Amino acid sequence: MDRSPHEIELVDAAAPKPGAMVELAPGVFWLRFELPLGFDHVNAWALADDDGWTLVDCGLDTPEVRAAWEALLSGPLAGRRVRRVVNTHAHPDHLGIAGELTRRTGAVFCTTLGEWLHGRVRHLEATAGSSPSARAFLHHHGVAPSTIDLLDRQPVDMSAFHRALPPYEFYRLSDHESLKIGGSRWQAIIGTGHSPEHMALFNDERRVLIAGDEVLERITPIIGVWPNEPEANPLQAYFRSLERFHRLPADTMVLPSHGRPFRGLQARVQATAEHHRNRLKRMHDLIGEPDSAASVAAQVFPRAAERGHVRLALAETIAHLQWLTTEGLAERSGSPGDVRRYRACAPWDDVRVPRP
Ligand SMILES: [Zn+2]
Repeated sequence: MDRSPHEIELVDAAAPKPGAMVELAPGVFWLRFELPLGFDHVNAWALADDDGWTLVDCGLDTPEVRAAWEALLSGPLAGRRVRRVVNTHAHPDHLGIAGELTRRTGAVFCTTLGEWLHGRVRHLEATAGSSPSARAFLHHHGVAPSTIDLLDRQPVDMSAFHRALPPYEFYRLSDHESLKIGGSRWQAIIGTGHSPEHMALFNDERRVLIAGDEVLERITPIIGVWPNEPEANPLQAYFRSLERFHRLPADTMVLPSHGRPFRGLQARVQATAEHHRNRLKRMHDLIGEPDSAASVAAQVFPRAAERGHVRLALAETIAHLQWLTTEGLAERSGSPGDVRRYRACAPWDDVRVPRP
């Protein structure tokens, strides 16, 4: 067993090449696809399901991922029908090719109502271009007009990201409901913060958690405030999700969407909460004088612009400032139409941050 800095134990298995799969527990297989993003891969899972397969997540819809699925369907998955395609959440690196896979195999598509709607709406919006309220949102948070114009001119990448569309017909899973797969129950654990109604699947009998993006091995999922819900407090929701994962059995094998399978869920949940605590403290320190979210984001994420991550950095910054404001540690000024500025209005208080 390897040890990573977060005191977790990596599962001793070599990562599968695209088009291959690796068995981690009886009937639980690890699949991995290439990803042309900041990280280079996304994981998916195949569960042996009586006379067929249940697949969990699909990878981004790129020619490479399509080729990998071809290899899987005519190779290790051949001989049994694909019964279900389960989607943890509608982000394109997880939803990707789900439409094509379900059409081709006749599989039932399973996800939560929130993710199904989110995926369908995002697909519609991708073709509509940026709305005036999205521009106003950037302006209210202090993004310079020239940067807003620049962001607006960035072409919408229809090749992969926005093409992902949840199939029209789906089977809805709600919190605590379960799917019986290969004779044992996988219970849905719904979390919010990273996406509207993210679904992890936990098998208590076999002590396996398919964590999606909610708990990751090294990185932390983006927790952001987006223009369509400007007063959201996703960090509060995410802290609640982390508490639920923290209560699962300590010997659970965690299968995250990015990184490697591991044990040590509690250590990883605590490290993730600590990461946000540190970020909250840092931002609280930065707003001794009133400042906009864009200005705070530029200090906390100095390389966001060169990486093309301005919107992501801003969304994540607002999420933390919003949490500070809701907790009474910061206040927000600026009348409607003005740039909003945040200012610390109470001393930093560690106790306020939830600790799983
Ligand atoms: Zn995601």
